[in-house]
Amino acid sequence: MTTPQHATQAHRRLLVLVVVAAVVVVALLGRPGPLGAVAHEARDRAPVDVPAGDQPELAGLDPELAARFLRAQAAAAEAGYPLRVTSGARTAAEQQRLLDEAVEEHGSPEAARRWVLPPEQSAHVQGTAIDVGPAESRDWLADHGAEFGLCLVYENEPWHVEALATPGTACPPLLRDAAAVG
Ligand SMILES: [Zn+2]
Repeated sequence: MTTPQHATQAHRRLLVLVVVAAVVVVALLGRPGPLGAVAHEARDRAPVDVPAGDQPELAGLDPELAARFLRAQAAAAEAGYPLRVTSGARTAAEQQRLLDEAVEEHGSPEAARRWVLPPEQSAHVQGTAIDVGPAESRDWLADHGAEFGLCLVYENEPWHVEALATPGTACPPLLRDAAAVG
């Protein structure tokens, strides 16, 4: 039998259930793990304090790539691996000069392309690629880069890194070399 009073009690129970469900969802989102991915990502994107002028090689880079590199650099340093950007953003003219040198060195435009892309195709000119060193620290980055969303791209360039994956997810398979682009 439904009276106005029963109906009101039923509504109250429903309201309590909704509130409890909302509290549970909020609690789950705050925890690490798959359900906490949103909250985790928000923490990953917290602003990074870049000491101005301290690493001029980061100038002109995509801010997300620079922020990811700084996080990885801090973790690498803690693990005993100093990590620096050896080449970051380049102008089209700089990229063309590198390409010209590579043609000279490798003997043909086709051979050079395996190592240096033309300005209009180079991620360095877009500010979305970095080369990192020293060589002793690259293995650490190969092992841990994906945790920071940093991925190696080419089999023949173990120093070339782009922000190709969401932090904590797998990187795409490696390309043989830059000639496989475009
Ligand atoms: Zn590169």
